[in-house]
This record gives sequence, structure tokens and C-alpha cells, in this order.
Amino acid sequence: MSKRDYYEVLGVEKGASKDEIKKAYRKLSKKYHPDINKEADANEKFTEISEAYEVLSDEQKRAQYDRFGHTDPNQGFGGGGDFGGGFGGFEDIFNTFFGGGGGRRRDPNAPRAGADLQYTMSVTFEEAVFGKETDIEIPKEEECETCDGTGAKPGTKPETCKHCQGTGQLNVEQNTPFGRIVNRRVCHHCHGTGKFIKEKCNTCGGNGKVQKRRKIHVKIPAGIDEGQQLRVSGQGEPGVNGGPPGDLYVVFHVRTHEFFERDGDDIYCEMPITFVQSALGDEIEVPTLHGKVKLKVPAGTQTGTKFRLRGKGVPNVRGYGTGDQHIRVKVVTPTKLTDKQKELLREFADITGQVPDEQHESFFDKVKRAFKGE
Ligand SMILES: [Zn+2]
Ligand SMILES: [Zn+2]
Repeated sequence: MSKRDYYEVLGVEKGASKDEIKKAYRKLSKKYHPDINKEADANEKFTEISEAYEVLSDEQKRAQYDRFGHTDPNQGFGGGGDFGGGFGGFEDIFNTFFGGGGGRRRDPNAPRAGADLQYTMSVTFEEAVFGKETDIEIPKEEECETCDGTGAKPGTKPETCKHCQGTGQLNVEQNTPFGRIVNRRVCHHCHGTGKFIKEKCNTCGGNGKVQKRRKIHVKIPAGIDEGQQLRVSGQGEPGVNGGPPGDLYVVFHVRTHEFFERDGDDIYCEMPITFVQSALGDEIEVPTLHGKVKLKVPAGTQTGTKFRLRGKGVPNVRGYGTGDQHIRVKVVTPTKLTDKQKELLREFADITGQVPDEQHESFFDKVKRAFKGE
């Protein structure tokens, strides 16, 4: 199975801006959200989208992707976000490439690293902000305990394949117009393992591995964001011939919040206030992720006025401080008024006149000028 191009996955041009990528991602992730979309391949699509965004939204990773493309077409995994030691650059690419079974055949008896696993975890908005410790269960191939991974019945040993002398490959000679050439092919007697098992282990049927569900303790770091990944070292599939196990990558999907929106480490929200509060000023209570905070709204505050609460955002996932909360005020015009209220407002209008203030006057002047074509 070959991997789709990340730009193609998000449906953007190769030179797309950060904003375009973000927009495309938001749209698609909403569409294929596993909580909403119940189509069979929704989760797969969602993971693909998240992965593409994780790489294309990060300048460094995007540059690397533009140069090298997918590091390993046989594995469902590209970018590596390691929160422990930062992005490993070349070393990571190297390991992925020569890790879990690339395209080439090598000595079947040489140690080989296990494949990496990927797991998509859906977390609440708050869990992403504050982090959480949890157990996840993943299906996992493990070394068979009965035969210690050899595939042979206890008390017996796998023998060396007679046909290939344990190399896992057969030389096939061919006559061509250029002379006689030797082609190396995978040994079909041992399927490239170089081994022959006379008596197979009953538990695993001879392949040395068993499917199990395994519980893994995962520490979600505070400040994790949509599409980011956490590497759990050594929790992938087991290695072959004593090779190291692969890694487990947990990809996070953060659910939306009904009141807060998040952009990086900053939180955004809209606060409704009454038109009396906006005119006379007031002290209002604003919900934040860190509890309620009092905010002074000065007299004459307009819809769209922005306030910032420093340090009330999201703690940075790499430990670089905490973001802010941005509040946009929205003045709500009352829709149901009692007779008494109407009367007071008419009286108010009589005193002030029909034009509310200078700011609006100049606005109306501008509109008039525009119509006259000045
Ligand atoms: Zn076994
Ligand atoms: Zn063989």
C-alpha cells in the first residue's frame, strides 16, 4: 500500500500557506471526526489527515517532507513528534527507513527492528490542556511464550533450510542476450526465513508470534494539540531475531469545546454583555480553563473589543510558559422589553437625540461620502 501525498490528503497546493493548510485541515478533520463520521474508513481517513497536518503545519517537518517525501512507503507512519528528546531529524528518518521491513531483503538471520504501531486517541479539550494519565489497550503482536518466538515445538529447534542453506534466498540462473545472469529470489521453501520447522509450536502455529491485547500506560503531556504525536518507546511490535521492538505512536485528536476555541497555546472566547454593561461599564466574571476570573469592562465598550488575560491559556507542551486567553466582547441587544423598559428607552432617546455618538456620526458621514462618490 503506498502512502498518499500529504498535500493531496489535505487537498491543497504544494505552495499552500499556513492558513490554507490549517483551514483545509479543520474542514476535513470535522468531516472525518471519528465521533461524528460513522463510515468504516472514517478513522483511517482521520488518522491520515492528522498525520498530514502534523507534518505540513510544522515548518521544519514540512521542509524535510518537501525534500525527502515519505520516509518509508511500507509503513503507515511518517513524521515523528518525540516530546522526550525533540525531533531527531536524520537519525529518526534513518531508523524508520531501515526499521520494520523496508523493501529490501537482507540476511534473514540478522536482527531486525519491530514495526512501529500507531494509535489514535480522542481526548477532551481539558485533557489536552492539562494532560492526563491513562491506560490504553492495543492489539499487538508479541513473541510467543511457549516457543520463545522460535515457532518450534518446545524441546525441538528450527533447522536450517536445506534449499537455501539458511540465507533465505535462492540463486536463479538465467540466460539473456547479454549472457548468463544470476537473479536472487526469496526462497519459497522457507519464505525467506532461512529456517525449517519440523514440529510447529501449537500456540503460535509456527510463526513465533501471537496476537494479544496489551494495556499500556500513557502519560498525555499537558498542552498537547490536535494531530500531535507522542512516542512511547519500545511499545511497538517485537523485533525479529533479537532485534529491538518498534515504537508506539499515539496520535491525539482533541474534541472541540462549546465555549473555548484554541489556537496553539492561546484560548479564544466570546463574552456576551448587556448594552447597559457596555455603556456604563461593569466588572464581569469570565470563565477560564483555570477557574473564573473577574474582568473590568470600561464604560463605552463596543462589540468586538478584545481583552487579554495573561497566562490563562494552555501550558506549552514543551514547557515554554503558558498562553493567554483572549476575550471578544459582544453586546447583546435585548429582544423582549417590558412596557416600562420601552418607555425608559424612549425617554433616553429623547434626551440624547437619534444619533448615538460622534463615532457613529462620522461613520454615517463616511457612508454618505461613499454614495456621493467623493
Ligand atoms: Zn510458539
Ligand atoms: Zn529456504
